[in-house]
Amino acid sequence: MAFIIIDLEFNNLSGIHKCIPNVYNDNPGLKNLELDNEIIEIGAVKLDAHMQPCEELKVYIKPSVIPIINPKILEITKINIKDLENGVGFVEGINKLKEMVDEGDIICSWAKDDIAEIIRNANYYGYDDLSWIDNYLDIQEYVTKILGYRKSLSLKNALKALKIKVNEDLLHDALNDCIYTAHVFKNMYNSRAVKNYIVEDIFKMPALEVRSLEGVELNYEKINQICPKCKKKLEVDYPFSIVGWRFISLGTCSKCNSRVLDELIVKKSLCGEEIYKEVATVIDEYDYLRYENKLKNKVYN
Ligand SMILES: [Zn+2]
Repeated sequence: MAFIIIDLEFNNLSGIHKCIPNVYNDNPGLKNLELDNEIIEIGAVKLDAHMQPCEELKVYIKPSVIPIINPKILEITKINIKDLENGVGFVEGINKLKEMVDEGDIICSWAKDDIAEIIRNANYYGYDDLSWIDNYLDIQEYVTKILGYRKSLSLKNALKALKIKVNEDLLHDALNDCIYTAHVFKNMYNSRAVKNYIVEDIFKMPALEVRSLEGVELNYEKINQICPKCKKKLEVDYPFSIVGWRFISLGTCSKCNSRVLDELIVKKSLCGEEIYKEVATVIDEYDYLRYENKLKNKVYN
């Protein structure tokens, strides 16, 4: 069993109008691209069973979806446009990554975005040979939890926390980021603990934040609304309503009379299924009134 740490660089149009003011007028086609993030570089490091690096990959992908390279991206990644012009096609690039993977190996990345983008780019090209991403580990999630941080650590801060020397000029290069991630992972590696973080069905994992909750129709069959103290069904005082980044509902327990704040976070799996994370908390009367005010304002505005 080996770990294959991957890191990608993308081209996208984020903030491009600041560098090229008329870009959307001059290129009307840019407004309806089918891919937001086009992979332009794949980096990977394979760690063997003794956590020793045994294989590396660095490959540029010739852009073919987004016709303009965002100058900001070139600045951050320090990628030379010539390297992109000489790059390989997406399918050839992804096949090189696939060749590194043997049965039972675990694909790893720092945060889930890269793995989500591999799947999105693959879907765009009609490339459906992704069975090699069988087992997956989010090293960011693992390291953040093991180090006891509540907020997801950036790679830079993880390196800092572990006192690993970094040449900042080398960050944001796909292969170097893999090598740094490998350092962090080796430092924090514990074979028993890691097992709890390996995802076996990657397409069902709740990977993607749902950006706009406005269009979400809640499926009440997947929602419990029970009292955290006595597990009894709540009397709902205010049904779920969007407040910021989540839905909230207020209820009262008919058995123990607790006031309960029920929060619902909606995420999407890579195959598009909506996944709910519901957290019910007993709150005091003061907090109840505070949330009640928020919900009342929502209803009457
Ligand atoms: Zn109760």
